[in-house]
Amino acid sequence: MNKTRKLIIAGNWKMNKTVAEAQDMVRRLKIDLGTIKDVDMVICPPFTALAEVSKAIIDTTIRLGAQNMSENNFGAHTGEIAAGMLKEFSVRYVILGHSERRQFQKETNELICKKAHAAHAASLKPIICVGETLEEREAGKTQKVIETQVVGCLKNLNGGQVMEAILAYEPVWAIGTGKTATPDQAQDVHAYIRALVAQLYDETVAQHVRIQYGGSVKPGNARELMELPDVDGALVGGASLDERSFADIIKNSI
Ligand code: PEP
Repeated sequence: MNKTRKLIIAGNWKMNKTVAEAQDMVRRLKIDLGTIKDVDMVICPPFTALAEVSKAIIDTTIRLGAQNMSENNFGAHTGEIAAGMLKEFSVRYVILGHSERRQFQKETNELICKKAHAAHAASLKPIICVGETLEEREAGKTQKVIETQVVGCLKNLNGGQVMEAILAYEPVWAIGTGKTATPDQAQDVHAYIRALVAQLYDETVAQHVRIQYGGSVKPGNARELMELPDVDGALVGGASLDERSFADIIKNSI
């Protein structure tokens, strides 16, 4: 697939897989995907598996991501993990503001923005998630919701930082539901986000920033989504837990 921006496909394993299961998955992913260079491939295991997965992918083109981090660098924050701690395991990406964290941990755009600043300060690339609920879409509020999230999460980040970041459009109604946004729905919102970035920064930043789509991406729909002009990759949940389907999503996207 010939696109100006390199595709980035990330697997979010969420709260799944023991260390042994993670090692087994990586062993099989390496055989299937270990040398692919046309797509940036990222896996985001739970914190407990980062150390072993980091060792296992050392000689491959697969990169490591975390699913969350603290906005603080150290100190009295029980249960939190700092960016510098992730760096110890060669983590390069960190998912921020996933809709599950927005919903269940009540993460706000302001908090996500603080985390994005902390990620950049530690040279981690944030994958910043935005997306509307079904209720918001049906009320015609999709663009307004996305605008508030993008503006809030990017506040005071400079153009260079935004170009390094990845934005992930994940309609909440499509996550884990088997309902995928239609290509038209996805392209509309991706184009809207890119136009918004151009308005907030400039055209160069907007043309550089990669915008992933997330929401029930599977081997069967990956290609039509990845071919859309403003879709630059995928954030994959459920289908990233199975070696075969994650590998096929990547292979079908090349
Ligand atoms: C996600 O949780 O980011 C996600 C996109 O999940 P799924 O692929 O299972 O819809």
